[in-house]
Amino acid sequence: MARTHRIAVLPGDGIGKETVPEGLRVLDAAARRFGFNLELKHFDWSCETYKETGRMMPEDGLDQLRTSDSVFLGAVGWPGVPDHISLWGLLIPMRRGFDQYISLRPCKLMPGTRTPLAGRTPADIDFIVVRENTEGEYSSSGGRMFPGTPREFVTQDSVFTRVGCDRVMKYAFELAMTRKRRKVTSATKSNGITFTMPYWDERFAEMAAQYPGITTDQFHIDILCAHFVQHPDWFDVVVGSNLFGDILSDLGPAVAGSIGIAPSANINPERAHPSMFEPVHGSAPDIAGKNICNPIGQIWSGAMMLEHLGEAAAAAAILDAIERLLAEGGPRTRDLGGQASTQDVGRALAEAVAQG
Ligand code: ATP
Ligand code: MG
Repeated sequence: MARTHRIAVLPGDGIGKETVPEGLRVLDAAARRFGFNLELKHFDWSCETYKETGRMMPEDGLDQLRTSDSVFLGAVGWPGVPDHISLWGLLIPMRRGFDQYISLRPCKLMPGTRTPLAGRTPADIDFIVVRENTEGEYSSSGGRMFPGTPREFVTQDSVFTRVGCDRVMKYAFELAMTRKRRKVTSATKSNGITFTMPYWDERFAEMAAQYPGITTDQFHIDILCAHFVQHPDWFDVVVGSNLFGDILSDLGPAVAGSIGIAPSANINPERAHPSMFEPVHGSAPDIAGKNICNPIGQIWSGAMMLEHLGEAAAAAAILDAIERLLAEGGPRTRDLGGQASTQDVGRALAEAVAQG
């Protein structure tokens, strides 16, 4: 019997409504060619929902998603709705409720696209940022004392648990085992943050000892950011805490080139809950509704989803189709200097995946 994957589809706002259909078009082509079924369940939750109902999703929203294997999301956010509403009303509840403790951002320069780093080629930029997604610096613990008085002060705690550190590091090392260069770099700041970061370093060293086949190094976050720009070729898998990983997760795709191409994943590796796949870009109100946005970030996110669902061959076929389209001068949208529409690119990639 053919395998069936249940996917919750949330286009969200702005260009998400245009990229998600192209993502689905390519996923459908992959499903036909590789012989699995996709059972789609559509949700129209967005900032419009918020304006109508005062909520980004219904109260039992997570329960509605829970029966799916994965969530395929476009983008959420729209002018007039504060970012914290779209974030805390949908994305963060999903991340926390489904214990998506790994955030993944591949940073890969594709042939035929441009990086802001002069002289760099695809051979130089091919790394992946693994961010801890549930604890660390982004805790809700802290407070303000003596407000409005000269003695006023504010604190915010960072929480690093052994379980939390070990599971993200284990994921990073296992991921490195699947890659050619087999290297893990840790982002730290143990010279300035003197309790949590030395602990992070300690957990990293202990995990590294269990993977003798993996090369490791570590850098303080400040110089690491500089190295991303000056020596992107040094990196393979880069693991960071919630805050440092967040910073690197924006810097990495930026050095790798176009925002329209970059994919991301929020993963619960145990598959106890749905994982979520979405492009790095936002809802891009400036170009929404014009059929000109680049759907590749969404399509690549779909490939990551298939990989997570165990469809590695299908995932590789999509990535291969993207690389060939970009390398061989296939249709491209304006952000990449072309004239093609969003749908032109989606159709070309679906066709390439179908034909192999
Ligand atoms: P967020 O919703 O995460 O806050 P943002 O508003 O900071 O996102 P984006 O929505 O990603 O940023 O848009 C940033 C810029 O990149 C915009 O000018 C937008 O037009 C462009 N852009 C984003 N995504 C795409 C895409 N898929 N294709 C073409 N251009 C894009
Ligand atoms: Mg925005």
